[in-house]
Amino acid sequence: MAEESSQSPNSSFNLFAITQTQLDAAAEVLELDPALHAVLREPLREMHVTLPVRMDDGSIKVFKGYRVQYNDARGATKGGLRFHPNETIDTIRALAAWMTWKCAVVDIPLGGGKGGIACNTKELSSSELERLSRAYIRQMGRILGPEMDVPAPDMYTNPQIMTWMMDEYSVMRGHNEFGVITGKPLALGGSRLRNDATARGGMYCIREAAKALGIETQGATMAIQGYGNAGQYAASLGQKILGATIVAISDSQGGVYDPDGINPYWALEHKRKNGSVKDFTATGATPISNQELLELDVDILAPSALENVITARNAGNIKARILAELANGPTTPQADDILYNHGVYTIPDFLCNAGGVVVSYFEMVQNAYDYYWDDQVVDERLDTRITQAFHAVHKRAQELNVNNRIAAYCVAVERVAEAVRLRGWA
Ligand code: GLU
Repeated sequence: MAEESSQSPNSSFNLFAITQTQLDAAAEVLELDPALHAVLREPLREMHVTLPVRMDDGSIKVFKGYRVQYNDARGATKGGLRFHPNETIDTIRALAAWMTWKCAVVDIPLGGGKGGIACNTKELSSSELERLSRAYIRQMGRILGPEMDVPAPDMYTNPQIMTWMMDEYSVMRGHNEFGVITGKPLALGGSRLRNDATARGGMYCIREAAKALGIETQGATMAIQGYGNAGQYAASLGQKILGATIVAISDSQGGVYDPDGINPYWALEHKRKNGSVKDFTATGATPISNQELLELDVDILAPSALENVITARNAGNIKARILAELANGPTTPQADDILYNHGVYTIPDFLCNAGGVVVSYFEMVQNAYDYYWDDQVVDERLDTRITQAFHAVHKRAQELNVNNRIAAYCVAVERVAEAVRLRGWA
């Protein structure tokens, strides 16, 4: 199952420009030194590659691949690889910037990176996908490695793709190098709980937010947009960890609503068989559009797929008390202001979905030591990191009287800026 999302990027907003706007707002609050600000506004390095791949019919098809190493002042760059037909360098730059802030806000010793290939995985056979994945590593391998830059799964990439890539890299190096990539299967150096880590971290954030707001999560209503890796685990863990009732779910084709609650496992079964949760009405749910889902009167809303789905156009209609952004970049800056003024409590993306990279970091540590932890150890350590990060952000928002996104930026940017300054880069 692909990580993060089952839907396509929404290209009507330039995501990189959005990340720069968000950074500028935090820089103003922090009164950040202009030189530091200028360094943090741009990616440090980018690599663009051309990948000729032999198709099953014998023809050669040429793909474009990218990797952006946004900032490595605090450690090796870290972040996923997306395989998507509409992949653009600006989207990857934005996601690499968010990875930088994400690793900093949860205080793991890593920088931010992101990569991808413009391709449609649905049109590729498994052997074509394998050749494409290996071709990417043959080109990018020279800038990857546990001490340099460590990819992971993201949109339309999965543990099998990570394994082909790790294998190709190991062949290039002449020895096994499990730590070059995370999100691997358990049999080949993967970490326990990596699969559901993005959603799990989000649930711990929601639990803490609910406590801070005096909301009882047992029986709270929750709507989830997207049923990829983040969304499907948000549904099952929302029930298990929070005791929430999952009243609405959706994917790119549409969704269903049931005020009595939807069974996440049956819904997943339905999606596996039919390709979508859209018609999962057998247990009494009714169809609902993605737009309607976002505007439901629920306690918790978790956009878990596309970027830019909450904009100035619909932000005023959001009725949720907690907006838990499991997707990267679901909310535009104008929408942020509207939500804040309407009293919606936003848990910003790079905090809410940081569980994935936290467990990826644990995977790197386990690979380095060749010593593996059990579920309980991973879970406790994840919970501690996320809970600490949540409270650092919540407290900063109260102190500065700013929304949680700006507060999260302040916490993260301060840490990266300090590393940049101490190293003498600015
Ligand atoms: N793709 C995930 C993210 O956006 C995980 C990155 C990682 O594990 O390195 O956070």
